Amino acid sequence: MVYFVGAGPGAEDLITVRGARLLKKADMVIYAGSLVNPELLKETREDCEIYNSAGMTLEEVIQVMVRGETEGKIIVRLHTGDPCVYGAIREQMDSLEQKGIAWEICPGVSSFCGAAAALNMEYTLPGVSQSVVLTRMAGRTPVPDRESIASFAAHKAAMVIFLSAGMMEELSHELMRGGYDPDTPAAIVYKATWPDEKRILCTVGTLAGKAREQGIAKTALVIVGDSVRQADYDRSNLYDPGFTTEYRRGRE
Ligand code: SAH
Repeated sequence: MVYFVGAGPGAEDLITVRGARLLKKADMVIYAGSLVNPELLKETREDCEIYNSAGMTLEEVIQVMVRGETEGKIIVRLHTGDPCVYGAIREQMDSLEQKGIAWEICPGVSSFCGAAAALNMEYTLPGVSQSVVLTRMAGRTPVPDRESIASFAAHKAAMVIFLSAGMMEELSHELMRGGYDPDTPAAIVYKATWPDEKRILCTVGTLAGKAREQGIAKTALVIVGDSVRQADYDRSNLYDPGFTTEYRRGRE
């Protein structure tokens, strides 16, 4: 059995209780070494076989899983954040399916949630934005044209940009091309929830300069939109004294 487990954004106590239990039980762990906190591996049994997938191909990962399965092992595939966001798990699940190996996914705290916590912010402020766009700049992995940064920017919704810390200049340009004012609030969160986390408040126009100043070129998220620093939002209806819900009668 293979368990795809979300390791959380960095801090070792931000894995789920279920994820931690699976790690403790595992006979074999294949972890994404470029971003998963190695401290998490201390939770594994002494005889647990550990592989760092950073230097492995998909075929090699699957090969290890197939051997583990043949030996009747409990296998944990440990991905950073939540495996469903840029986790490349579909191709692994499809290969396992072909080989008749069962799997299950255990979710994790994605870095975009860790970054919001670091910034003390809420993405979905009433009257400001009720949507969150999770996206990236095209890199070696292409992004379909219809999902360009500029086209999403036109919505002025809260936006979280993954995998693009090395392309801040182009990112800033694309955001402005899409219609964001250069003064629109933005933030860079480097290694959210890790001990060396950095939070930088800036604007769409100053993104690249700030990243350069701080030497940030990887393991960072860019968050854009008025939700980053908005004083002028509406109160929620849900907690308004005059609002009746299924659970609470509103005052007249
Ligand atoms: N599955 C992961 C994302 C993997 S893609 C998740 O749910 O978070 C890798 C990218 O995620 C990095 O390039 C960076 O943009 C972002 N990332 C991952 N961990 C991060 C962290 N702790 N702080 C900031 N960005 C992070």
